Formats: sequence, C-alpha cells, structure tokens
Amino acid sequence: MVETKDLDQLKRQTEECLKCALGDSRTNLVFGHGNPNADVVFIGEAPGFNEDKQGIPFVGAAGKLLTELLAGIGMDREDVYIANVLKCRPPGNRDPLPEEVAACKPVLFEQLGIINPKVVVTLGAHATRTILSRDVSISKVHGTTFQVDGYTVFPIYHPAAALYARATKELLEEDFRALKDFLAAGDQTAQDEQPRVTAAGETAEKDSIQLGLF
Ligand code: URA
Repeated sequence: MVETKDLDQLKRQTEECLKCALGDSRTNLVFGHGNPNADVVFIGEAPGFNEDKQGIPFVGAAGKLLTELLAGIGMDREDVYIANVLKCRPPGNRDPLPEEVAACKPVLFEQLGIINPKVVVTLGAHATRTILSRDVSISKVHGTTFQVDGYTVFPIYHPAAALYARATKELLEEDFRALKDFLAAGDQTAQDEQPRVTAAGETAEKDSIQLGLF
C-alpha cells in the first residue's frame, strides 16, 4: 500500500532539507500556516527577517497588510492556508535564485496536492511564475484566472509591493475585491463557465478589462 503523506509529515521531511545553500543559513524553516483543508491557498515569494525568526509566513509588515486585506473580504488568516515558494529566507531578502526555486518547487506542489484547494492566489511575480511554470508579467495577469492541475490560479500583486506605492495598493485592493467576487461566484463558475483566462490561450474579455487599467 502506498502511504499518503500529510502536511505535518511533509513539514518534518522538509525541515531536514539542505538542497540549496539557504538550508544552512535559515533560523527556521517557514513551511506554511493555516487551515490544512483550505479552499483558498495564498502563495508568497520567500520568508523575510520576521518570518525566519518565527517560522511563520507573512508576519511582518507585508503580512499585516495581507491580514487586513483578508479581513476586508471577510476572511481570516486561519480560514486559508498561507505559504511561500521558498521555505527559507534568502539573505538580505534578495530575489529567489532559479536553483532555490527549483529545489523548493516540488515541496510547494506536494503541499498543494495534500491541501487540494479550489483556488491558489499567487502574490506577485515570483509565485505566479512558479505556479504557472512560465514567465508572465504580474501587471498583465493580476486579477485574471488560470487553470493548473485542477485548481484555479488567481494572481494578484504582492502586498510588499503595495506598502510604499499607493497606486499599487489600490490595484491590490481591487484584486482583493475581484477575488471576493470570484469566490462568491463559487463552484458554479468553476464548473459551468470557461475560465476567463486560461494558461494556454487568453480569452479576451477579462484580459481587456484588466489591460484597460493601465
Ligand atoms: N513574508 C512572507 O512570508 N513572504 C513574502 O513573500 C513576503 C513576506
């Protein structure tokens, strides 16, 4: 019989990981946090200073904004699951290196396989590119949807990008309103309608609405 892994087992296994150099410099692995049966999973880029110290994702300034934006659409951090592409902090909060993403990506996909969410909300370009496995511009795809492995991917701006740029914060707030509407439409939309934008071929309507923002 093939034994199925749960999130705790995957976390314990990942705590041993030294596949890239970040394994040597981490204070704590930041595996993920929240409801293991969540319908909605949020994926960020990588742990920062505070996350590395506490072992919990999104506990710094960007996390505070994420928590506020979730509350604004009637959701609590504990309702959803929050994780990052990288489970260890890159020094100085630099961008993840391709080899670091390659080392961590299987863990992320295994996490998603266990949680089996309906919607994966990718925060910013790094998470979106990792989940879609292709290069995309967050300014073009935010607020649109893609289908990957049976779940809907909903890219939005990263909260950290909105901390010091009012225009980006407004776009992120708009993304959250669109996410709320999308979640409210629920299973009906997922089952009965074509995705507004698919990974393979863009359907024009929603895209043109988004592009009109710029
Ligand atoms: N904190 C996280 O956990 N992830 C990010 O991407 C940014 C801040």
